[in-house]
Amino acid sequence: MEMIKNRSLLSALCEPANSAHTANLAANLAVTNPATGEELGCISTDSEADIYAAIERSAVAQKSWQKTSAKERATILHRWYQLLMDNQADLARIITLEQGKPLAEAEGEVAYGASFIEWFAEEAKRTYGDTIPGHTRDRRLMTIKQPVGVATAITPWNFPIAMITRKAAPALAAGCSFVGKPANQTPLSAYAVVELAYQAGVPKELLQLVIHNSPEVVGQIFCKNEIVRKLSFTGSTRVGRILTAQCAETVKRVSMELGGNAPFIVFDDADIDTAVAGAIASKFRNAGQTCICANRFYIHDAVYDQFIDKFCAAVVQLKVGNGLEPGVTIGPLINHAAKNKVLRLIEAAVAEGARIVTGGNHRDGLFVEPTVLTDVSQTMGIVREEIFGPVAPVIRFSTDEELITMANDTIYGLAAYFYSRDIGRIWTVAEALEYGMVGINEGSISTDVAPFGGIKQSGFGREGAKEGIDEYLEVKYLCFGGIR
Ligand code: NAP
Repeated sequence: MEMIKNRSLLSALCEPANSAHTANLAANLAVTNPATGEELGCISTDSEADIYAAIERSAVAQKSWQKTSAKERATILHRWYQLLMDNQADLARIITLEQGKPLAEAEGEVAYGASFIEWFAEEAKRTYGDTIPGHTRDRRLMTIKQPVGVATAITPWNFPIAMITRKAAPALAAGCSFVGKPANQTPLSAYAVVELAYQAGVPKELLQLVIHNSPEVVGQIFCKNEIVRKLSFTGSTRVGRILTAQCAETVKRVSMELGGNAPFIVFDDADIDTAVAGAIASKFRNAGQTCICANRFYIHDAVYDQFIDKFCAAVVQLKVGNGLEPGVTIGPLINHAAKNKVLRLIEAAVAEGARIVTGGNHRDGLFVEPTVLTDVSQTMGIVREEIFGPVAPVIRFSTDEELITMANDTIYGLAAYFYSRDIGRIWTVAEALEYGMVGINEGSISTDVAPFGGIKQSGFGREGAKEGIDEYLEVKYLCFGGIR
Protein backbone atom coordinates (compact mmCIF):
# COMPACT_ATOMS: atom_id res chain seq x y z
CA MET A 1 0.00 0.00 0.00
CA GLU A 2 3.05 2.29 0.19
CA MET A 3 2.55 3.26 -3.45
CA ILE A 4 -0.60 5.22 -2.68
CA LYS A 5 0.47 8.87 -3.02
CA ASN A 6 -2.44 10.58 -1.25
CA ARG A 7 -1.76 9.95 2.45
CA SER A 8 -5.25 10.94 3.53
CA LEU A 9 -6.56 7.96 1.61
CA LEU A 10 -4.17 5.71 3.48
CA SER A 11 -5.32 7.03 6.85
CA ALA A 12 -8.88 6.36 5.77
CA LEU A 13 -7.91 2.74 5.27
CA CYS A 14 -6.58 2.36 8.78
CA GLU A 15 -9.83 3.15 10.56
CA PRO A 16 -13.47 3.52 9.61
CA ALA A 17 -14.05 6.82 7.85
CA ASN A 18 -17.01 7.81 10.02
CA SER A 19 -14.71 8.51 12.93
CA ALA A 20 -17.55 10.22 14.79
CA HIS A 21 -18.52 6.76 16.02
CA THR A 22 -16.80 4.55 18.55
CA ALA A 23 -15.20 1.79 16.55
CA ASN A 24 -15.11 -1.59 18.21
CA LEU A 25 -11.39 -2.11 17.92
CA ALA A 26 -11.60 -5.63 19.26
CA ALA A 27 -13.27 -6.76 16.08
CA ASN A 28 -11.23 -6.59 12.91
CA LEU A 29 -11.77 -7.59 9.34
CA ALA A 30 -8.73 -8.69 7.35
CA VAL A 31 -8.60 -7.57 3.72
CA THR A 32 -6.54 -9.69 1.31
CA ASN A 33 -5.22 -9.30 -2.21
CA PRO A 34 -6.90 -11.99 -4.36
CA ALA A 35 -3.97 -12.01 -6.81
CA THR A 36 -1.36 -12.90 -4.19
CA GLY A 37 -3.27 -14.01 -1.10
CA GLU A 38 -1.34 -11.52 1.05
CA GLU A 39 -3.09 -9.53 3.73
CA LEU A 40 -3.40 -5.85 2.83
CA GLY A 41 -4.44 -4.74 6.28
CA CYS A 42 -7.19 -4.89 8.84
CA ILE A 43 -10.18 -2.67 9.18
CA SER A 44 -11.92 -2.26 12.51
CA THR A 45 -15.55 -3.29 12.40
CA ASP A 46 -18.63 -1.72 13.95
CA SER A 47 -20.68 -3.17 16.76
CA GLU A 48 -24.47 -3.37 16.49
CA ALA A 49 -24.68 -0.36 18.81
CA ASP A 50 -22.36 1.55 16.43
CA ILE A 51 -24.67 0.80 13.50
CA TYR A 52 -27.77 1.97 15.36
CA ALA A 53 -25.88 5.10 16.45
CA ALA A 54 -24.81 5.78 12.85
CA ILE A 55 -28.45 5.63 11.74
CA GLU A 56 -29.51 8.03 14.49
CA ARG A 57 -26.78 10.52 13.60
CA SER A 58 -27.76 10.14 9.97
CA ALA A 59 -31.35 11.15 10.74
CA VAL A 60 -30.21 14.32 12.49
CA ALA A 61 -27.83 15.24 9.67
CA GLN A 62 -30.52 14.63 7.06
CA LYS A 63 -32.86 17.17 8.62
CA SER A 64 -30.29 19.96 8.08
CA TRP A 65 -29.17 18.68 4.68
CA GLN A 66 -32.67 18.72 3.22
CA LYS A 67 -32.82 22.46 3.94
CA THR A 68 -29.79 23.18 1.73
CA SER A 69 -30.47 24.47 -1.76
CA ALA A 70 -30.04 22.18 -4.73
CA LYS A 71 -27.23 24.43 -5.88
CA GLU A 72 -25.36 24.06 -2.58
CA ARG A 73 -25.65 20.28 -2.78
CA ALA A 74 -24.53 20.34 -6.41
CA THR A 75 -21.44 22.41 -5.56
CA ILE A 76 -20.30 19.91 -2.93
CA LEU A 77 -20.99 16.94 -5.22
CA HIS A 78 -19.02 18.57 -8.03
CA ARG A 79 -16.05 18.94 -5.66
CA TRP A 80 -16.38 15.25 -4.69
CA TYR A 81 -16.42 14.28 -8.37
CA GLN A 82 -13.26 16.29 -9.01
CA LEU A 83 -11.46 14.75 -6.03
CA LEU A 84 -12.17 11.25 -7.35
CA MET A 85 -10.73 12.19 -10.72
CA ASP A 86 -7.71 13.90 -9.10
CA ASN A 87 -7.05 10.70 -7.14
CA GLN A 88 -7.92 8.32 -9.97
CA ALA A 89 -4.54 6.55 -9.97
CA ASP A 90 -4.49 5.95 -6.20
CA LEU A 91 -8.09 4.78 -6.09
CA ALA A 92 -7.50 2.44 -9.03
CA ARG A 93 -4.52 0.91 -7.27
CA ILE A 94 -6.60 0.28 -4.14
CA ILE A 95 -9.33 -1.37 -6.25
CA THR A 96 -6.82 -3.63 -8.00
CA LEU A 97 -5.12 -4.56 -4.73
CA GLU A 98 -8.29 -5.66 -2.95
CA GLN A 99 -10.51 -6.71 -5.86
CA GLY A 100 -8.06 -7.96 -8.49
CA LYS A 101 -9.26 -6.32 -11.72
CA PRO A 102 -6.51 -5.05 -14.06
CA LEU A 103 -5.30 -1.52 -13.32
CA ALA A 104 -6.67 -0.08 -16.59
CA GLU A 105 -10.12 -1.45 -15.75
CA ALA A 106 -9.82 -0.10 -12.21
CA GLU A 107 -9.05 3.36 -13.59
CA GLY A 108 -12.13 2.97 -15.76
CA GLU A 109 -14.19 2.09 -12.70
CA VAL A 110 -13.02 5.23 -10.87
CA ALA A 111 -14.07 7.38 -13.84
CA TYR A 112 -17.36 5.47 -14.12
CA GLY A 113 -18.00 5.82 -10.37
CA ALA A 114 -17.14 9.53 -10.49
CA SER A 115 -19.46 10.07 -13.46
CA PHE A 116 -22.48 9.31 -11.26
CA ILE A 117 -21.44 12.01 -8.80
CA GLU A 118 -21.12 14.54 -11.62
CA TRP A 119 -24.42 13.47 -13.18
CA PHE A 120 -26.39 13.66 -9.93
CA ALA A 121 -24.76 16.97 -8.98
CA GLU A 122 -26.62 18.30 -12.02
CA GLU A 123 -29.79 16.28 -11.47
CA ALA A 124 -30.07 17.75 -7.93
CA LYS A 125 -31.22 20.95 -9.68
CA ARG A 126 -33.90 19.22 -11.76
CA THR A 127 -36.18 17.49 -9.27
CA TYR A 128 -39.18 19.32 -10.67
CA GLY A 129 -42.73 18.90 -9.48
CA ASP A 130 -45.84 19.53 -11.61
CA THR A 131 -48.73 21.94 -11.69
CA ILE A 132 -51.88 20.01 -12.48
CA PRO A 133 -54.96 21.44 -14.24
CA GLY A 134 -57.59 21.39 -11.50
CA HIS A 135 -60.84 19.41 -11.38
CA THR A 136 -62.83 22.30 -9.81
CA ARG A 137 -62.77 26.12 -10.26
CA ASP A 138 -61.74 26.90 -6.68
CA ARG A 139 -58.70 24.66 -6.36
CA ARG A 140 -55.14 24.66 -7.62
CA LEU A 141 -53.13 21.44 -7.62
CA MET A 142 -49.42 20.78 -7.67
CA THR A 143 -46.78 18.26 -6.68
CA ILE A 144 -43.40 18.77 -5.07
CA LYS A 145 -40.61 16.24 -4.64
CA GLN A 146 -38.97 15.73 -1.25
CA PRO A 147 -36.15 13.50 -0.03
CA VAL A 148 -37.10 10.06 1.26
CA GLY A 149 -34.99 10.60 4.41
CA VAL A 150 -32.34 8.21 5.74
CA ALA A 151 -31.22 5.96 2.88
CA THR A 152 -29.16 2.81 3.37
CA ALA A 153 -27.32 0.65 0.89
CA ILE A 154 -25.55 -2.70 0.71
CA THR A 155 -23.08 -3.14 -2.13
CA PRO A 156 -21.01 -5.96 -3.70
CA TRP A 157 -17.28 -6.43 -4.23
CA ASN A 158 -17.20 -6.47 -8.05
CA PHE A 159 -17.39 -2.65 -8.44
CA PRO A 160 -16.31 -1.49 -4.99
CA ILE A 161 -16.37 2.23 -5.85
CA ALA A 162 -19.00 2.57 -8.56
CA MET A 163 -21.68 0.66 -6.66
CA ILE A 164 -21.26 3.07 -3.72
CA THR A 165 -21.29 6.28 -5.78
CA ARG A 166 -24.20 5.11 -7.99
CA LYS A 167 -26.32 5.07 -4.81
CA ALA A 168 -24.75 7.69 -2.52
CA ALA A 169 -24.62 10.45 -5.16
CA PRO A 170 -28.37 10.42 -6.01
CA ALA A 171 -29.21 10.07 -2.31
CA LEU A 172 -27.21 13.16 -1.33
CA ALA A 173 -28.37 15.06 -4.42
CA ALA A 174 -31.99 14.41 -3.45
CA GLY A 175 -31.43 15.65 0.12
CA CYS A 176 -31.22 12.24 1.79
CA SER A 177 -28.54 11.05 4.19
CA PHE A 178 -26.75 7.79 3.45
CA VAL A 179 -25.45 4.86 5.49
CA GLY A 180 -23.76 2.19 3.37
CA LYS A 181 -22.33 -1.24 3.95
CA PRO A 182 -19.61 -2.12 1.44
CA ALA A 183 -18.72 -5.74 0.68
CA ASN A 184 -16.49 -7.22 3.37
CA GLN A 185 -13.97 -8.32 0.75
CA THR A 186 -13.48 -4.80 -0.67
CA PRO A 187 -14.06 -2.16 2.03
CA LEU A 188 -10.86 -0.18 1.42
CA SER A 189 -11.96 1.41 -1.86
CA ALA A 190 -15.27 2.40 -0.31
CA TYR A 191 -13.68 4.04 2.73
CA ALA A 192 -11.22 5.88 0.49
CA VAL A 193 -13.98 7.31 -1.68
CA VAL A 194 -15.96 8.41 1.38
CA GLU A 195 -12.84 10.09 2.78
CA LEU A 196 -12.75 12.15 -0.43
CA ALA A 197 -16.39 13.10 0.08
CA TYR A 198 -15.49 14.57 3.48
CA GLN A 199 -12.64 16.51 1.89
CA ALA A 200 -15.20 17.85 -0.59
CA GLY A 201 -17.36 19.18 2.25
CA VAL A 202 -19.90 16.40 2.79
CA PRO A 203 -20.71 16.36 6.53
CA LYS A 204 -19.41 13.19 8.22
CA GLU A 205 -22.75 12.28 9.76
CA LEU A 206 -24.48 12.63 6.40
CA LEU A 207 -22.45 9.99 4.58
CA GLN A 208 -21.31 7.04 6.66
CA LEU A 209 -20.12 3.52 6.09
CA VAL A 210 -20.56 0.69 8.54
CA ILE A 211 -18.96 -2.72 8.46
CA HIS A 212 -19.53 -5.87 10.50
CA ASN A 213 -18.17 -9.37 10.23
CA SER A 214 -21.70 -10.66 9.69
CA PRO A 215 -23.51 -9.02 6.74
CA GLU A 216 -26.75 -10.53 8.01
CA VAL A 217 -26.57 -8.36 11.13
CA VAL A 218 -26.25 -5.15 9.08
CA GLY A 219 -29.02 -6.29 6.75
CA GLN A 220 -31.40 -6.96 9.65
CA ILE A 221 -30.70 -3.56 11.20
CA PHE A 222 -31.07 -1.62 7.92
CA CYS A 223 -34.28 -3.43 6.94
CA LYS A 224 -36.06 -3.45 10.28
CA ASN A 225 -35.09 -0.02 11.64
CA GLU A 226 -37.96 2.45 11.40
CA ILE A 227 -35.71 5.50 11.04
CA VAL A 228 -34.36 4.04 7.81
CA ARG A 229 -36.72 4.90 4.95
CA LYS A 230 -34.94 3.34 2.02
CA LEU A 231 -32.72 0.35 1.21
CA SER A 232 -30.88 0.10 -2.07
CA PHE A 233 -29.17 -3.23 -2.63
CA THR A 234 -26.81 -4.48 -5.32
CA GLY A 235 -25.85 -8.13 -5.12
CA SER A 236 -27.13 -11.62 -5.70
CA THR A 237 -30.77 -12.49 -6.29
CA ARG A 238 -30.55 -14.88 -3.31
CA VAL A 239 -29.70 -12.07 -0.87
CA GLY A 240 -32.04 -9.65 -2.67
CA ARG A 241 -34.97 -11.95 -1.88
CA ILE A 242 -34.02 -12.04 1.82
CA LEU A 243 -33.67 -8.25 2.07
CA THR A 244 -36.91 -7.55 0.18
CA ALA A 245 -38.77 -9.83 2.59
CA GLN A 246 -37.11 -8.21 5.61
CA CYS A 247 -38.03 -4.72 4.38
CA ALA A 248 -41.68 -5.70 4.16
CA GLU A 249 -41.88 -5.48 7.96
CA THR A 250 -41.34 -1.70 7.89
CA VAL A 251 -42.82 -1.19 4.39
CA LYS A 252 -39.58 0.44 3.29
CA ARG A 253 -38.78 1.89 -0.12
CA VAL A 254 -36.55 -0.70 -1.82
CA SER A 255 -34.38 -0.82 -4.94
CA MET A 256 -32.88 -4.12 -6.04
CA GLU A 257 -30.02 -4.47 -8.54
CA LEU A 258 -29.59 -8.24 -8.64
CA GLY A 259 -28.01 -11.03 -10.64
CA GLY A 260 -28.13 -11.51 -14.39
CA ASN A 261 -27.81 -14.22 -17.03
CA ALA A 262 -27.19 -12.22 -20.20
CA PRO A 263 -27.65 -13.88 -23.59
CA PHE A 264 -25.21 -12.73 -26.30
CA ILE A 265 -26.74 -13.37 -29.71
CA VAL A 266 -25.15 -13.27 -33.15
CA PHE A 267 -27.52 -13.46 -36.13
CA ASP A 268 -26.50 -14.59 -39.62
CA ASP A 269 -26.52 -10.99 -40.93
CA ALA A 270 -24.20 -9.66 -38.19
CA ASP A 271 -20.83 -8.05 -38.69
CA ILE A 272 -18.76 -10.85 -37.15
CA ASP A 273 -15.69 -8.77 -36.28
CA THR A 274 -17.86 -6.26 -34.39
CA ALA A 275 -19.63 -9.12 -32.64
CA VAL A 276 -16.33 -10.71 -31.58
CA ALA A 277 -15.05 -7.39 -30.20
CA GLY A 278 -18.32 -6.95 -28.28
CA ALA A 279 -18.17 -10.53 -27.00
CA ILE A 280 -14.67 -10.06 -25.61
CA ALA A 281 -15.63 -6.77 -23.92
CA SER A 282 -18.87 -8.09 -22.52
CA LYS A 283 -17.69 -11.54 -21.41
CA PHE A 284 -14.21 -10.98 -20.02
CA ARG A 285 -14.35 -7.58 -18.32
CA ASN A 286 -13.53 -8.00 -14.62
CA ALA A 287 -12.71 -11.70 -15.37
CA GLY A 288 -16.38 -12.26 -16.13
CA GLN A 289 -17.48 -10.97 -12.72
CA THR A 290 -20.06 -8.37 -13.69
CA CYS A 291 -23.83 -8.67 -13.45
CA ILE A 292 -24.20 -7.69 -17.13
CA CYS A 293 -21.46 -10.00 -18.44
CA ALA A 294 -22.49 -12.15 -21.39
CA ASN A 295 -23.31 -15.44 -19.68
CA ARG A 296 -24.34 -17.62 -22.66
CA PHE A 297 -23.73 -17.25 -26.38
CA TYR A 298 -26.26 -18.05 -29.12
CA ILE A 299 -24.71 -18.10 -32.58
CA HIS A 300 -26.64 -18.63 -35.81
CA ASP A 301 -25.77 -21.81 -37.75
CA ALA A 302 -24.67 -19.89 -40.83
CA VAL A 303 -21.95 -17.89 -38.99
CA TYR A 304 -21.19 -20.33 -36.20
CA ASP A 305 -17.81 -21.64 -37.43
CA GLN A 306 -16.62 -18.18 -38.48
CA PHE A 307 -17.58 -16.69 -35.10
CA ILE A 308 -15.98 -19.50 -33.07
CA ASP A 309 -12.69 -19.25 -35.01
CA LYS A 310 -12.43 -15.49 -34.60
CA PHE A 311 -13.68 -15.49 -31.01
CA CYS A 312 -11.18 -18.17 -29.90
CA ALA A 313 -8.35 -16.33 -31.71
CA ALA A 314 -9.20 -13.24 -29.64
CA VAL A 315 -9.63 -15.19 -26.37
CA VAL A 316 -6.12 -16.70 -26.55
CA GLN A 317 -4.70 -13.15 -26.70
CA LEU A 318 -6.07 -12.39 -23.20
CA LYS A 319 -3.38 -12.33 -20.53
CA VAL A 320 -4.10 -13.79 -17.10
CA GLY A 321 -2.24 -12.47 -14.06
CA ASN A 322 -1.88 -9.93 -11.27
CA GLY A 323 -3.82 -6.83 -12.33
CA LEU A 324 -0.92 -4.59 -11.33
CA GLU A 325 1.29 -6.12 -14.05
CA PRO A 326 1.34 -4.35 -17.42
CA GLY A 327 -0.63 -6.06 -20.17
CA VAL A 328 -2.76 -8.24 -17.88
CA THR A 329 -6.38 -8.34 -19.02
CA ILE A 330 -7.79 -11.08 -16.76
CA GLY A 331 -7.21 -10.84 -13.01
CA PRO A 332 -8.04 -13.40 -10.32
CA LEU A 333 -11.52 -14.36 -9.20
CA ILE A 334 -12.55 -12.87 -5.88
CA ASN A 335 -12.17 -15.98 -3.67
CA HIS A 336 -11.92 -19.77 -3.64
CA ALA A 337 -15.69 -20.28 -3.51
CA ALA A 338 -16.02 -18.27 -6.75
CA LYS A 339 -13.24 -20.23 -8.46
CA ASN A 340 -14.63 -23.59 -7.31
CA LYS A 341 -18.08 -22.66 -8.60
CA VAL A 342 -16.73 -21.79 -12.06
CA LEU A 343 -14.63 -24.99 -12.25
CA ARG A 344 -17.61 -27.07 -11.10
CA LEU A 345 -19.79 -25.56 -13.86
CA ILE A 346 -17.13 -26.33 -16.50
CA GLU A 347 -16.68 -29.92 -15.26
CA ALA A 348 -20.42 -30.56 -15.17
CA ALA A 349 -20.87 -29.16 -18.70
CA VAL A 350 -18.04 -31.34 -20.04
CA ALA A 351 -19.51 -34.38 -18.30
CA GLU A 352 -22.79 -33.64 -20.11
CA GLY A 353 -21.12 -33.41 -23.54
CA ALA A 354 -19.72 -29.88 -23.86
CA ARG A 355 -16.32 -29.49 -25.56
CA ILE A 356 -13.54 -27.15 -24.41
CA VAL A 357 -12.28 -25.33 -27.52
CA THR A 358 -9.81 -23.09 -25.76
CA GLY A 359 -8.74 -22.60 -22.13
CA GLY A 360 -9.80 -24.91 -19.34
CA ASN A 361 -6.25 -25.54 -18.06
CA HIS A 362 -5.41 -25.51 -14.36
CA ARG A 363 -4.08 -22.27 -12.90
CA ASP A 364 -2.78 -21.75 -9.38
CA GLY A 365 -4.27 -19.31 -6.90
CA LEU A 366 -7.58 -17.72 -7.80
CA PHE A 367 -6.92 -17.55 -11.54
CA VAL A 368 -9.14 -19.20 -14.14
CA GLU A 369 -8.09 -19.45 -17.78
CA PRO A 370 -10.46 -17.78 -20.25
CA THR A 371 -12.41 -20.71 -21.65
CA VAL A 372 -14.76 -21.29 -24.59
CA LEU A 373 -17.14 -24.26 -24.53
CA THR A 374 -19.08 -25.54 -27.55
CA ASP A 375 -21.69 -28.31 -27.91
CA VAL A 376 -23.49 -26.72 -25.00
CA SER A 377 -27.21 -27.28 -24.43
CA GLN A 378 -29.86 -25.03 -22.91
CA THR A 379 -30.40 -27.32 -19.91
CA MET A 380 -26.80 -27.32 -18.66
CA GLY A 381 -26.00 -25.62 -15.34
CA ILE A 382 -23.49 -23.35 -17.07
CA VAL A 383 -26.38 -21.86 -19.09
CA ARG A 384 -28.93 -21.77 -16.27
CA GLU A 385 -26.68 -20.24 -13.57
CA GLU A 386 -24.81 -16.94 -13.39
CA ILE A 387 -21.21 -18.10 -14.08
CA PHE A 388 -19.35 -15.03 -12.75
CA GLY A 389 -16.11 -16.16 -14.35
CA PRO A 390 -14.22 -16.03 -17.68
CA VAL A 391 -16.08 -18.86 -19.37
CA ALA A 392 -18.16 -18.61 -22.55
CA PRO A 393 -20.62 -21.45 -23.27
CA VAL A 394 -21.84 -21.40 -26.90
CA ILE A 395 -25.11 -22.74 -28.33
CA ARG A 396 -26.14 -22.93 -32.01
CA PHE A 397 -29.52 -21.75 -33.23
CA SER A 398 -31.26 -21.64 -36.60
CA THR A 399 -34.53 -19.70 -36.27
CA ASP A 400 -35.39 -16.36 -34.61
CA GLU A 401 -38.37 -17.90 -32.79
CA GLU A 402 -36.27 -20.68 -31.25
CA LEU A 403 -33.66 -18.09 -30.29
CA ILE A 404 -36.10 -15.78 -28.49
CA THR A 405 -37.54 -18.70 -26.52
CA MET A 406 -34.07 -19.77 -25.36
CA ALA A 407 -32.89 -16.22 -24.65
CA ASN A 408 -35.89 -15.51 -22.39
CA ASP A 409 -35.78 -18.92 -20.71
CA THR A 410 -34.37 -17.70 -17.36
CA ILE A 411 -35.55 -16.17 -14.11
CA TYR A 412 -33.21 -13.22 -14.78
CA GLY A 413 -33.84 -10.10 -16.85
CA LEU A 414 -30.92 -7.71 -16.51
CA ALA A 415 -28.96 -7.30 -19.78
CA ALA A 416 -29.01 -8.91 -23.23
CA TYR A 417 -26.92 -8.33 -26.36
CA PHE A 418 -27.51 -9.06 -30.01
CA TYR A 419 -25.82 -8.42 -33.35
CA SER A 420 -27.74 -7.92 -36.57
CA ARG A 421 -27.88 -5.38 -39.39
CA ASP A 422 -31.51 -5.92 -40.36
CA ILE A 423 -33.56 -3.00 -39.01
CA GLY A 424 -36.82 -5.00 -38.95
CA ARG A 425 -35.24 -7.86 -37.05
CA ILE A 426 -33.51 -5.43 -34.69
CA TRP A 427 -36.82 -3.89 -33.58
CA THR A 428 -38.60 -7.24 -33.30
CA VAL A 429 -35.83 -8.83 -31.22
CA ALA A 430 -35.24 -5.73 -29.06
CA GLU A 431 -38.93 -5.69 -28.14
CA ALA A 432 -39.15 -9.45 -27.59
CA LEU A 433 -36.18 -9.74 -25.22
CA GLU A 434 -37.38 -9.68 -21.60
CA TYR A 435 -34.51 -7.62 -20.17
CA GLY A 436 -34.09 -4.19 -18.62
CA MET A 437 -31.14 -3.33 -20.91
CA VAL A 438 -30.35 -4.43 -24.45
CA GLY A 439 -27.08 -3.85 -26.30
CA ILE A 440 -27.64 -3.82 -30.06
CA ASN A 441 -24.38 -4.23 -31.96
CA GLU A 442 -22.70 -3.08 -28.73
CA GLY A 443 -21.12 -5.02 -25.86
CA SER A 444 -20.40 -2.11 -23.46
CA ILE A 445 -23.62 -0.45 -22.39
CA SER A 446 -23.02 1.05 -18.92
CA THR A 447 -23.08 4.83 -18.58
CA ASP A 448 -24.24 7.36 -16.00
CA VAL A 449 -26.68 8.93 -18.49
CA ALA A 450 -28.80 5.81 -19.19
CA PRO A 451 -31.05 3.89 -16.75
CA PHE A 452 -29.37 0.79 -15.34
CA GLY A 453 -31.55 -1.98 -13.92
CA GLY A 454 -33.38 -5.22 -14.46
CA ILE A 455 -36.75 -6.90 -14.61
CA LYS A 456 -37.96 -10.32 -13.42
CA GLN A 457 -35.68 -11.67 -10.65
CA SER A 458 -32.90 -9.27 -11.62
CA GLY A 459 -34.71 -6.71 -9.50
CA PHE A 460 -36.50 -3.38 -9.74
CA GLY A 461 -35.62 0.29 -9.67
CA ARG A 462 -33.16 2.14 -11.91
CA GLU A 463 -29.77 3.70 -11.24
CA GLY A 464 -28.16 6.57 -13.15
CA ALA A 465 -30.03 8.65 -15.74
CA LYS A 466 -32.94 10.94 -14.95
CA GLU A 467 -34.72 8.02 -13.28
CA GLY A 468 -31.97 7.40 -10.70
CA ILE A 469 -32.76 10.30 -8.38
CA ASP A 470 -36.45 9.37 -8.18
CA GLU A 471 -35.45 6.32 -6.12
CA TYR A 472 -34.59 8.79 -3.32
CA LEU A 473 -37.55 11.16 -3.69
CA GLU A 474 -41.18 11.12 -2.57
CA VAL A 475 -43.89 12.90 -4.55
CA LYS A 476 -46.10 15.09 -2.38
CA TYR A 477 -49.42 16.38 -3.72
CA LEU A 478 -50.54 19.85 -2.60
CA CYS A 479 -54.18 20.85 -3.03
CA PHE A 480 -54.87 24.61 -2.64
CA GLY A 481 -58.56 25.22 -1.95
CA GLY A 482 -60.77 28.30 -1.46
CA ILE A 483 -59.49 30.14 -4.50
CA ARG A 484 -62.01 32.72 -5.77
P1 NAP B 1 -23.95 -11.04 -2.45
O1 NAP B 1 -23.41 -12.26 -1.82
O2 NAP B 1 -25.42 -10.92 -2.60
O3 NAP B 1 -23.37 -9.82 -1.58
C1 NAP B 1 -23.64 -8.49 -1.90
C2 NAP B 1 -23.62 -7.68 -0.62
O4 NAP B 1 -24.62 -8.19 0.27
C3 NAP B 1 -22.31 -7.76 0.16
O5 NAP B 1 -22.07 -6.53 0.78
C4 NAP B 1 -22.60 -8.83 1.19
O6 NAP B 1 -21.80 -8.72 2.34
C5 NAP B 1 -24.02 -8.53 1.51
N1 NAP B 1 -24.78 -9.66 2.07
C6 NAP B 1 -24.59 -10.98 1.88
N2 NAP B 1 -25.53 -11.67 2.56
C7 NAP B 1 -26.32 -10.77 3.19
C8 NAP B 1 -27.45 -10.86 4.03
N3 NAP B 1 -28.00 -12.02 4.37
N4 NAP B 1 -28.00 -9.71 4.49
C9 NAP B 1 -27.48 -8.52 4.16
N5 NAP B 1 -26.41 -8.37 3.36
C10 NAP B 1 -25.84 -9.48 2.87
O7 NAP B 1 -23.37 -10.79 -3.89
P2 NAP B 1 -21.85 -10.78 -4.33
O8 NAP B 1 -21.43 -12.18 -4.54
O9 NAP B 1 -21.06 -9.95 -3.42
O10 NAP B 1 -21.96 -9.99 -5.71
C11 NAP B 1 -22.22 -10.61 -6.89
C12 NAP B 1 -23.69 -10.53 -7.24
O11 NAP B 1 -24.07 -9.16 -7.36
C13 NAP B 1 -23.98 -11.16 -8.58
O12 NAP B 1 -25.16 -11.90 -8.50
C14 NAP B 1 -24.14 -9.96 -9.49
O13 NAP B 1 -24.90 -10.21 -10.64
C15 NAP B 1 -24.77 -8.97 -8.58
N6 NAP B 1 -24.58 -7.60 -9.08
C16 NAP B 1 -25.66 -6.95 -9.59
C17 NAP B 1 -25.50 -5.66 -10.11
C18 NAP B 1 -26.68 -4.92 -10.68
O14 NAP B 1 -26.58 -3.70 -10.85
N7 NAP B 1 -27.79 -5.56 -11.00
C19 NAP B 1 -24.25 -5.05 -10.08
C20 NAP B 1 -23.17 -5.74 -9.55
C21 NAP B 1 -23.36 -7.04 -9.04
P3 NAP B 1 -20.41 -9.51 2.45
O15 NAP B 1 -19.50 -8.85 1.48
O16 NAP B 1 -19.98 -9.31 3.82
O17 NAP B 1 -20.68 -10.94 2.09
